[in-house]
Amino acid sequence: MQNINTILIANRGEIASRVIRTCRKMGIKSIAVFSEADRHASFVEQADVAVFIGESTPAASYLDQDKIIAAAKKTGANAIHPGYGFLSENVSFAKRCETEGLIFIGPNPAAIDAMGSKSKAKALMKEHKVPVVPGYQGDDQSVATLTKAAKKIGFPVLLKATAGGGGKGMRIVHEAKEIKTAIAAAKRESKSAFGDDELIVEKYIASGRHIEFQIFGDKHGNAIHILERECSIQRRYQKVIEESPSPVLAEKVRKKMGQAAVQAAKALQYDNAGTVEFIYDEQSQEFYFLEVNTRLQVEHPVTEEVTGLDLVQMQIESAQGMPLAVQQEEIEGIGYAIECRLYAEDAHNDFLPVTGTIQRFEIPDVDGLRVETAIRSGSEISIYYDPMIAKLIVWDNTRQGAMRKMQYVLRNLVCLGITTNQDFLLHLLENPDFQVGNYDTHFIQNKIDLNNFANTKENKNTFACIAACLHEWQQRESKRTLLRSIPSGWRSNFSNYQQTTYLVAKGEEEIVVKYRFQKNAFTFLLGETTYKVQLIDATKEHCRLEIDGLQYLFNIAQNGQHYFVHNEAIGGVPLIQKERFPAKEIAKVEGGYEAPMPSQIIKVLVSAGQEVKSGDALIILSSMKMENTIEAEKDGLVEEVYASEGSNVEAGFLLLKIT
Ligand code: ADP
Repeated sequence: MQNINTILIANRGEIASRVIRTCRKMGIKSIAVFSEADRHASFVEQADVAVFIGESTPAASYLDQDKIIAAAKKTGANAIHPGYGFLSENVSFAKRCETEGLIFIGPNPAAIDAMGSKSKAKALMKEHKVPVVPGYQGDDQSVATLTKAAKKIGFPVLLKATAGGGGKGMRIVHEAKEIKTAIAAAKRESKSAFGDDELIVEKYIASGRHIEFQIFGDKHGNAIHILERECSIQRRYQKVIEESPSPVLAEKVRKKMGQAAVQAAKALQYDNAGTVEFIYDEQSQEFYFLEVNTRLQVEHPVTEEVTGLDLVQMQIESAQGMPLAVQQEEIEGIGYAIECRLYAEDAHNDFLPVTGTIQRFEIPDVDGLRVETAIRSGSEISIYYDPMIAKLIVWDNTRQGAMRKMQYVLRNLVCLGITTNQDFLLHLLENPDFQVGNYDTHFIQNKIDLNNFANTKENKNTFACIAACLHEWQQRESKRTLLRSIPSGWRSNFSNYQQTTYLVAKGEEEIVVKYRFQKNAFTFLLGETTYKVQLIDATKEHCRLEIDGLQYLFNIAQNGQHYFVHNEAIGGVPLIQKERFPAKEIAKVEGGYEAPMPSQIIKVLVSAGQEVKSGDALIILSSMKMENTIEAEKDGLVEEVYASEGSNVEAGFLLLKIT
């Protein structure tokens, strides 16, 4: 047995944090490696030692084997945990660790190698009597052979790149007449994406569920399974929600699948954490092997929550050569766990990743909630890495209870600054079919209206505009107390409607907000509807409003004209405030130009007697750190200038007159 006392984590983000936590628990020194983009990341701070390994592009840092090995040597690490992604399923890296005298915390290189190709994996599993999806996986890669195989299997078929992964390199073929072109295109794609154009052809299971089993092995020939995770909620063949146990698996099927998973583990002489993925046909109760992932999965916390096991600790123990501490009979799942992956992505735009700064990140306090993240307020989602923000995991005695908790979490989590899938996840959790476990891998595609899912919340945009408007009003007011020159009382009485316009739905919709303050309350007029609103409390980050007798807390992040408003009832709404005082509205007095808001005069660009042309800049004002240029409405002669540079003026102050 080898003793592990220092582990280098060849990864980043939440999984690095996760591994560090177990290292600490076990008294093991942790070494983080980080790229340029991650210098200020929380996982870097959490590790006992952190080593800079290079530029932000993965190839120059997290995928650079030389740099990682050198960092391990330099810091005295005797083991490497690869996390998931990056080098975790890289055979040459696992071998390299071995030759460099470092313990690779993962399965033996032969097992990784055997599962690295989908065709080899399927062939091996077939040999060991693990049911595989009917299909062709062979050396003869000619178009004729592949076409013949597809016809024999029967359409629809799925073409998969044997070297593919992460949902990439797959193509459904519905009819015989499409097959030749599809094969050519699939080969081209996989060649350029994976450097290999070998394909397998599979029966396409139209309403399958993705059910996978956690497996574990040690170096003494023991192998067990640690129950299943259902991961059918996917977009682009990638998981977004996982749960354990599966809501549909009968005990006898669970037993059979579990046994098949252990058979797979034994076939590989598996000696660490892994996952055997199956596609499950609910109607026939048949299941078929898809692949083995030879690493710790993203969704491993779901298993940990129902079993109470620490899979990272078990990985470390197995890597040290310790025999498995639990027997198959001792594995018991208690209660229900669900995981949602919070991503920086746009559900309205084909789930494309989004980059930017998360201005605020606050997690609600819910019993049984576990959050795996390396994000905090101010963190950047960069172009370089996976856009996952956090994994939200809840546990409860019942599935219903777990679902309810997850909905609560999704309603109350504050993640402001960029587009995320938070409201999309909530929408999935609120779906009646999902709630009773009635779903398959096409659930999102078939059951969710991706254009309209966000519009189901009543008053969504209206309330968000009111909140943004009063937030801004309050900010302005708090500044005003500093402007001594303004007569007191101004602020609490303006009986004329003020007006602000917001752009919602990515600028496609305009909402005009009119409001006035009278008798300690605001009256808002949006379209035909009026709202009575009291401003209960407001800070830079929140505002608490009473709208028609109901109080709401709004979380607000502002970045120039951009607002991100979030509230438990309406979800998150991004807004853009339109240029507040278009030149046309400024000139209220004939020839007179007034300050549109309490401001400071930054610059006076004209003087009395000067000729101006329409559109000429006259005066620059500043308010709320935003500059406003007052421009001439038409040609004329400056009669008088009343504003002086540096002075503070109230709204309506006559700045100058042009005749
Ligand atoms: P990857 O390695 O890219 O993750 P997998 O083989 O694990 O590829 O498949 C990913 C997902 O694609 C599965 O979870 C499932 O939703 C879908 N899938 C894979 N094979 C089939 C199939 N034969 N029929 C229907 N769906 C499939």
